[in-house]
Amino acid sequence: MANALLEKPKEHEDQQSKTRSSLFVPDLVFFEPQALEYPLGKELYARYEKEQIPIRMTTSHNQVRGIPGENEIEQYRNAKRTLVVGVRKTLKFEPSKPSAEYALPLATGCAAHCHYCYLNTNIGSKPYVRVYVNTDDIFAQAEKYIQERLPEITRFEAACTSDPVGIEHITGNLKRAIEFMGRQPHGRLRFVTKFHHVDSLLDAKHNKHTRFRFSMNADYVIKHFEPGTSSFEQRIEAAGKVARAGYPLGFILAPLYWHEGWEQGYSSLIEKLSEQLTEEAKQDLTFELIQHRFTKVAKHLILKRYPKTKLEMNEEERKYKWGKYGRGKYVYPDVQAKALQAHLEREIARHFPQARIEYFT
Ligand code: SF4
Repeated sequence: MANALLEKPKEHEDQQSKTRSSLFVPDLVFFEPQALEYPLGKELYARYEKEQIPIRMTTSHNQVRGIPGENEIEQYRNAKRTLVVGVRKTLKFEPSKPSAEYALPLATGCAAHCHYCYLNTNIGSKPYVRVYVNTDDIFAQAEKYIQERLPEITRFEAACTSDPVGIEHITGNLKRAIEFMGRQPHGRLRFVTKFHHVDSLLDAKHNKHTRFRFSMNADYVIKHFEPGTSSFEQRIEAAGKVARAGYPLGFILAPLYWHEGWEQGYSSLIEKLSEQLTEEAKQDLTFELIQHRFTKVAKHLILKRYPKTKLEMNEEERKYKWGKYGRGKYVYPDVQAKALQAHLEREIARHFPQARIEYFT
């Protein structure tokens, strides 16, 4: 088993392009003993046992040991192919300002390999995929938060620590969350995904309480920097399905990345989106625009984990933007940032005159 795991990273780049659209199947699964007290935990145990995927027990996810790999990169890549099934003990939700009041904790980690993934720095030392089986406890807590804020609406973001669509085939927890929020007059859900595996969510009773967002980019950017995610065409097609299922829809265009042919790349993206969407979906549509940025810490991690990346991170070509607590980041100089913003805003206004651009940052 260990040998099989060790061989994978060497074929990584090729594999990723071949398996772009396939569902994540872990190479190794850890269970916390408490997880087996819940029906979903038992179901997952039986499933992986039947599929003959190696299973180990761990007292807690912090105690996960023995992920193979001869060096840090191999261990990192094998960890991303490892699943931990556990119980969410902390029922204090993190804030998720400004787009939501709280992060809804359904999972952490992701099996894909976007070079600029926000999880690189967020959960960098624990890159395995972790899912929770005690969703009733999590939803009961969400309900408390909703009650506390009445008569205001309370919004929850389900993609702060993972891509919930990319692992939905494992637990079905996202559909449960969508239907839970559909029953809450004062609760709203939002999340973002780079995956097209949306079919199981199309018949969910969402009651329009969930905003389904896709992270989209120019074809060039997806091809070069987002291995393991769904392709440009797959995401666009999935967005069409989600629109026809009546969900409020949104697009995060991020990171907006300066590359040769970027104007054409982003024009084509907006045009193709427009061809896929129903008139109804176009009436209630949001866009969030985020230019590429990096911190020194992130750059260091990216170059360590993806040494062959073509991602441009030259500090001298960027503007330093000071952040909270003195931790700043490198963004595009004003001329480039404004050009990106103006081009995207123009194209969005042309194809989606009713859409709301929530921000450019
Ligand atoms: Fe990170 Fe999202 Fe890419 Fe997964 S799909 S690696 S969560 S950016």
